[in-house]
Amino acid sequence: MMVNSFFLVFVCGLLWISVSDGQGHDQRLKTLANDFRNIIAQNSIRKQYAVLYLSKPAATSGQVYYEPTPPHVAPAFVYPDITGDMITNNADYPYTYSALTPDYNAARFGKVLHKATTIHTEDIALKLVFPHMEKWFNSKYNANVISVYLYSYYLPCPDCTNIIQTFLTSHPTIGLYIGFSQLYGGNNEGSDPAKRQQTKQRKQNLSIMLNNHHGRLFDLGSFKPSPVGKRETSEGCFVSDANGELFLTLNFTNGEVLAFFTRKLNGTIVLADKDDNDIASRTVLADESEIISFGKYMNEGFNAKFYDGLDGLKMQTEPWNQCGVDMEVMKELPAHYSEVRIWLQIQDGSPFVCLSGRKFSHMKFDRVQLEGKSEKGLTTLSNSVLVNQFKEHKIGSEERCYKFPRLNKDFSEGFRAKYITCASYTNCTYGELYDNVTPYWTPW
Ligand SMILES: [Zn+2]
Repeated sequence: MMVNSFFLVFVCGLLWISVSDGQGHDQRLKTLANDFRNIIAQNSIRKQYAVLYLSKPAATSGQVYYEPTPPHVAPAFVYPDITGDMITNNADYPYTYSALTPDYNAARFGKVLHKATTIHTEDIALKLVFPHMEKWFNSKYNANVISVYLYSYYLPCPDCTNIIQTFLTSHPTIGLYIGFSQLYGGNNEGSDPAKRQQTKQRKQNLSIMLNNHHGRLFDLGSFKPSPVGKRETSEGCFVSDANGELFLTLNFTNGEVLAFFTRKLNGTIVLADKDDNDIASRTVLADESEIISFGKYMNEGFNAKFYDGLDGLKMQTEPWNQCGVDMEVMKELPAHYSEVRIWLQIQDGSPFVCLSGRKFSHMKFDRVQLEGKSEKGLTTLSNSVLVNQFKEHKIGSEERCYKFPRLNKDFSEGFRAKYITCASYTNCTYGELYDNVTPYWTPW
């Protein structure tokens, strides 16, 4: 996909500097996010919070120093003490870090930031807090600020992206490292494909912007419960060239096929099955971005094609079964199991899970369960299915598969499959961290 391919370019560009460098920044942002999460959570029912950290001179990569007060005894919200509508001369803030929540309805900082509606954390952090921290930092260390870390639970919104751009322009020697945990911040982005696309574009723009100013953007994902990352988005179902983009995807709330399309030519989008029979088509106009719903349930082998007005084939995606979550090796199985792999796909709009292994006799009490993520961030577990109920996929193969009920709104933000080992029908174990799990398969 576009985002990932850009990201790869950046990673390659940075490798010559230091391989561990990126990991250090990434780790530092995670530490900040984790250390302040609990403090913030006790004081807010909403998820958004931000942490701003100025890296001390010669700080070891990947470490965060708090001084003079460790965060667990710090006040819930730490920022300069600004009273009334004035930043007073003694408002210096003697810390290398601060943590913030949004200023709802501009109740606290409305006057000083000239805003009447909720002020976002990035705005407070960069416009209000940073100048004070920087001033103190300069005198304390007799040094300029080189690296600034900003963690924000949600990806910065469009307005905050502009604020970040302004910050970068006015601080050309500072490297800004931004990490976030969730892509979609609100406005029902998660369920609106057009907004999803805008968010994806913003993430990419922000990444480019930061890279151009010696910084970086990190998608930290959620910190728990799984150590397993998100699926690497397959490049196969997203094709692009200089004239446009074509993306074959799913409606995760019902299992139907979607195609995202933008192109400089008039033409036709065709949905074809595994035998290359056309099963649906739609006329599309030049220069319009469209989410096309074909009213068909996704199946293996489906692919999308774009023909221009002269019937010339201009673009074609890979078949759908190249686009899902590939075989994952289950890591935490009893020693007497040989290798077991799990594969997550969609067949006829339904989650389709296949297992491969040599010792299905050992596995007969084991279960597979789906975990869906809904728009509100809730997770829903399906009923578990016994491996015994999995059917041989092809005659004589070592693969057995099971088709779950169709996707529904519980899956709107993605889903994954868990493998649960059981010694008997009632004696099942799986680790808290769900090591035996596929990556989340997310809509974008
Ligand atoms: Zn914002």
